[in-house]
Amino acid sequence: VAMPFWVIGCVNCKTDFVYAKIDDYKLDEFLNPRKPEVPAQGYERECPSCGHKGAYARTDLVYSHRTYPA
Ligand SMILES: [Zn+2]
Repeated sequence: VAMPFWVIGCVNCKTDFVYAKIDDYKLDEFLNPRKPEVPAQGYERECPSCGHKGAYARTDLVYSHRTYPA
């Protein structure tokens, strides 16, 4: 079953990985999903594929439906 996620594309290997699962199935969230809050300096995440650590901003989050784990 595909579920909604915020995903990030790794700046190093270009593989995208899950930043956060979208829990709410409220119609409002579905039609106009709100991006999670990210600190102004970015949020550091480690890529599960290549291990590259990068700081990601809110604008790097992409809404995606996928089967978990992805
Ligand atoms: Zn990577």
